[in-house]
Amino acid sequence: MSGKSIISIIAVLFLSLSITRENRAANPQQGKEDIVSAVMERFRPARDGNCRQFFQSIRPPRLSSAMKALALTYLPPDGEVMPDARSVAVLDELLPILALHERESFVEIKLIQAAPAAVAMYARCVLLISEQTIRLLSVHELQALTAHELGHEYVWGAYESALERRDSRSMRELELWCDGVAVLTLLDLGIEPRSLVSGISKINRYNSRFGVPQNAGDYPPDRLRSRFLRNLLVFTRKSGSIP
Ligand SMILES: [Zn+2]
Repeated sequence: MSGKSIISIIAVLFLSLSITRENRAANPQQGKEDIVSAVMERFRPARDGNCRQFFQSIRPPRLSSAMKALALTYLPPDGEVMPDARSVAVLDELLPILALHERESFVEIKLIQAAPAAVAMYARCVLLISEQTIRLLSVHELQALTAHELGHEYVWGAYESALERRDSRSMRELELWCDGVAVLTLLDLGIEPRSLVSGISKINRYNSRFGVPQNAGDYPPDRLRSRFLRNLLVFTRKSGSIP
């Protein structure tokens, strides 16, 4: 991978927030309800309690410093851009999100040149954000997508395994899980949870100019994401709204 540019990496990773097609299950409605129920169940311990305690109880250890250093050597420098003053101010707003997940002094944030709007976690230690994304999203929407990406670390191994098996259903479940992590994070910080849905919608609309990605079926449709998040708010007895 050392020969690849950051742009080529992000071109793959941005798909975690890309447009999706409907699931082609034999009984699509049944399949969607099953996925929503399965992911909801994973949030049961957070139902009445403090989400920080819940995250603490399931958080994996940080990547070791040696592994982080190794990962960074595989991340090519071309494509990284120096943020201007406005971007610096926006990126600073992401620190409370990282702090809630105890990654504020570990995960590095890099602004990159890339055609798509994209936010992606690289190797559990670098948050890649394309310049387009900074321009496109509000601060709250960018905070929401950052929280979603941090959610991936909780299920990193499971996602890699599902990817290896080409198990689209499992990947859709794990994406919903990350949405749930994002919404609980936003609620804890007093941020309107609909920022997640509006942020994803903006990115999807922007990236639609690049066509539908080949692995679109690995991601839950927007309507399913909204349904899951509405159910999660009820399930965890939190106030907030999802369009
Ligand atoms: Zn994702």
